[in-house]
Amino acid sequence: MAKIEKILLNKEIPNLDAFRFQHPITTKYWALGGSSGWLGPNTTNITSCPDGVGSYQHYANGSIYYHPSTGAHEVHGLIRARWTALGWEQSFLGYPLTDETATPGSGGRYNHFQGGSIYWSPSTGAWEIHGAIRAKYSALGWEQSFLGFPLTNETTTPDGIGRYNHFQNGSIYWSPGTGAWEVHGAIRDKWSSLGWERSALGYPLTDEQAVYGGTGRISHFQHGSIYWSATAGSRILKERVKVHVKILEAPVSFTHNEQFAAMQEVYAMAGIQVEWATTENLSLPSLNDVDVGGCTMGTVTAEQITLFGNRNYVGANDMVVYYVRSTVPGYNGCAAYPAGRPGAVVVRSASRWTLGHELGHVLGLQHVSDNNRLMTGLGTFNITNPPPDLIPGEISTMIGSGLSTPL
Ligand SMILES: [Zn+2]
Repeated sequence: MAKIEKILLNKEIPNLDAFRFQHPITTKYWALGGSSGWLGPNTTNITSCPDGVGSYQHYANGSIYYHPSTGAHEVHGLIRARWTALGWEQSFLGYPLTDETATPGSGGRYNHFQGGSIYWSPSTGAWEIHGAIRAKYSALGWEQSFLGFPLTNETTTPDGIGRYNHFQNGSIYWSPGTGAWEVHGAIRDKWSSLGWERSALGYPLTDEQAVYGGTGRISHFQHGSIYWSATAGSRILKERVKVHVKILEAPVSFTHNEQFAAMQEVYAMAGIQVEWATTENLSLPSLNDVDVGGCTMGTVTAEQITLFGNRNYVGANDMVVYYVRSTVPGYNGCAAYPAGRPGAVVVRSASRWTLGHELGHVLGLQHVSDNNRLMTGLGTFNITNPPPDLIPGEISTMIGSGLSTPL
């Protein structure tokens, strides 16, 4: 210090500005081109924010805000207008964490703030997202996800409980008891037509998901589900059957997933959700070609009694499907079960529809001579119109079986 003081005293350095503290706002301003940059000339001095900690400077075409914990960042244009409308740094958004930044590849712009973000695109305008909804949007991939850009601020739902943002291709709904989940496409259209969260379904409990790896899609809600597939359309599911899988021998013609996806599609026509509850491998070689006798309801063999005794994890009104190599005599499956142990056997070479067909028997359905229907007695390999039909009387029987539970 002594040497510097001596130099200063001797006035050997003509310009003392080089030693003066430069405000971070000034540093940012000059990094962006200063008075000849796009921000243009300043319209205020550097001014303290109402919190007494941060500071800002306005310019002809924007502002720079500084806070010791965020640094100095510029805000301008319609994003700045949105931030202004919300209450600047005194709003829940707080101070900017970024300059206005181009979104990756989709023609939009955003600023992140301490308490959220504002996203803008030419066709959608500038809207804020924050909190759990923003976290979901981020997890899905921001504007590059199927949702696209926001179309609203976070908004209170008409029921006064939850919050939502609409986006170009969907919505994210949040409530304190359910969390934040996306809804989109035909399922969102159906939910919307019912009255959104004020409908009997309530709030979403999941994102939209593929049903057992198939082409069907489902979103679960507080009091039901909405299923969609190209062939079944949108279906409201208000009942559920629970199915436990016990594997003596894995299927070879159609995977478990394919069979469950097919069963869900046809059961969706009845408004029934199919829950694949648990899976257990059983080593029971002596039952792998299980004697089912005449496969007659109410008449079971000793082997069926032994096989159906395997009920780990199974609730009283749950159904069990036992996957075996074959039945003796040979069928695709057999739904005769011992009293109080509802379930069926399905052989490894069964068709895509056998699982739903056999459990249809367990739910009280009888054979029909019609290959357009799930309960065809002519062999489910011969079904001609996937998904096969369930008629209203059959649906009533299934829901009245005591094995289907309201959601
Ligand atoms: Zn049958």
